Amino acid sequence: MARKTSTLTVVRTERLVPHMVRVVLGDPGFDSFEPSEFTDSYVKMEFGSAEEPVLRTYTVRAVDPVARELAIDFVVHGDEGVAGPWAASVQPGTAVTVRGPGGAYSPRPDADWHLIAGDESALPAISTAVAALGPDAVARVFVEVADAHDEIDLPAGPNVEITWLHRGAPSDAAGADVVAGNAPLVAAVRAMPWLPGDVHVFIHGEAETVMHHLRPYIRKERGVPAASASISGYWRRGRTEEGFRVWKSELASVEAGSR
Ligand SMILES: Cc1cc2nc3c(=O)[nH]c(=O)nc-3n(C[C@H](O)[C@H](O)[C@H](O)COP(=O)(O)OP(=O)(O)OC[C@H]3O[C@@H](n4cnc5c(N)ncnc54)[C@H](O)[C@@H]3O)c2cc1C
Repeated sequence: MARKTSTLTVVRTERLVPHMVRVVLGDPGFDSFEPSEFTDSYVKMEFGSAEEPVLRTYTVRAVDPVARELAIDFVVHGDEGVAGPWAASVQPGTAVTVRGPGGAYSPRPDADWHLIAGDESALPAISTAVAALGPDAVARVFVEVADAHDEIDLPAGPNVEITWLHRGAPSDAAGADVVAGNAPLVAAVRAMPWLPGDVHVFIHGEAETVMHHLRPYIRKERGVPAASASISGYWRRGRTEEGFRVWKSELASVEAGSR
């Protein structure tokens, strides 16, 4: 089914940290957007021509019905691509069409504990998830960013442990597989003392890192059932979003064949 389309207007932008820009969207067009209840709520943003737009997927970081604004936080990952460079230079008054929102995850209040992890592309969804945890919720949160300058404030309750991981300079595509396996996120999640009880997991970020190095650990080694694990890639190193969609469908075919 085609997703609902809304056209909003860029109200302002704000550089949150060196590699993250917030783009605030609002009127004209705020009422055309219907927010979702999920903390990983996301939209497909249209760029380029209206006839054949390029689509890029972004988390709805926040919706403020009083200010009539919604915020989307973009990783600024260099000059390559469409959405990252757009966010770094877009001016107030620009119209933006989005499709959605979609989404499927919110931290379950009845879980004994939460494991929430990802890189900076998942930081908007991680931020909304942490903010949605109950005051007594137990959670282990891991976020991989370039360095300490890219950390943001994540207000959380007393039983939420937040660990920032510093990747250093991004590596080139040639080292991608090695990098994925060696990502500080993988080592940190694997080294975390596993807590007893029913866990609800949310892990998203670079696809090789997440799908080949963290998902097997969570699902097979730790035996977390699919219904309690929201785990997927948000982007793929060395591929555009179009190339990443091909990578995902190839992975799905391989996995269907090995069942
Ligand atoms: C459900 C969902 C929610 C998402 N939410 C967010 C969000 O809130 N904020 C956000 O920034 N991203 C988010 N992403 C990831 C985002 O869709 C991708 O990063 C997308 O590829 C960016 O598009 P682009 O036009 O900037 O780059 P593309 O044209 O897709 O790619 C150009 C080059 O940049 C590289 N690249 C793309 N993304 C990154 C990155 N994060 N770091 C380093 N290199 C990169 C690619 O590998 C490629 O080599 C989300 C993805 C999904 C599936």
